Amino acid sequence: MTVTASGRPETSGPAGRPLPRVLVVEDQMQLVRALQINLRARQYEVLTARTGREALALASATPPDAMILDLGLPDVDGTEVIVAFRGWSRAPIIVLSGRTSPGDKIGALDAGADDYVTKPFAMGELLARLRAALRRDEAAGRDAALVALIGRWLVDLSAHTVQDSDSETAAADSPPPRLTPTEWRILEILLRRPGQLVSSAQLLAGVWGPGYQDRTNYLRFHMTRLRRKLESDPSRPRHLLTEPGMGYRYQPDPGQPARLLTALPAAGVESG
Ligand code: CA
Repeated sequence: MTVTASGRPETSGPAGRPLPRVLVVEDQMQLVRALQINLRARQYEVLTARTGREALALASATPPDAMILDLGLPDVDGTEVIVAFRGWSRAPIIVLSGRTSPGDKIGALDAGADDYVTKPFAMGELLARLRAALRRDEAAGRDAALVALIGRWLVDLSAHTVQDSDSETAAADSPPPRLTPTEWRILEILLRRPGQLVSSAQLLAGVWGPGYQDRTNYLRFHMTRLRRKLESDPSRPRHLLTEPGMGYRYQPDPGQPARLLTALPAAGVESG
């Protein structure tokens, strides 16, 4: 495994604010080093991956605030990395590629990249584009806090917390369920598309990455566990629905539209 997390001791900036974490996905090691030096000098935490699969595994374990992504990777095409990462993350992706054709740019942007820089590139311009992408993302993030109600549970995708929505029944005999990282990623994909069918292939790519399209058994296993944890009657789910042969759907409760998937104001959310 050539994934190398940065070994920097400090992970927070002057005001205790975490350093923005950038995942560099690139197989040219000289370029990786140049990016690492320049990004660290500007107070970014840097993670690096040499292949698409390493990138997705690392992103899943340590979600980055932004990704700088080469398209020509040793294992999968960078576009597949974009699609898989977009399944669960909105962090900006800046493609850094030697491919200059309009088709490549269109393909990457349509797949979910935010910007496209062609090699050879000026480091100053790449860094400016990264700053701009992070600013846009931060502005969007203020409206993106996402809370959904599943049965009695209030699921907060940003804080990764599950709370009892009814304080009267919030009893010690049924503490809120604890969800695994895989379960959070499945919810992240489903809850951001309320009422919509999400295909098994989309979910598998978003949660496990490319190459898992046939592992529908993974989904059945984890969806069963999610229902046991969140649905009032797991055998007759009302919110986490299976569409046989197609995929899954998060069905919001019609009685709770105002609280479901409402963009919450930033009040109470650390904005610094
Ligand atoms: Ca390459």
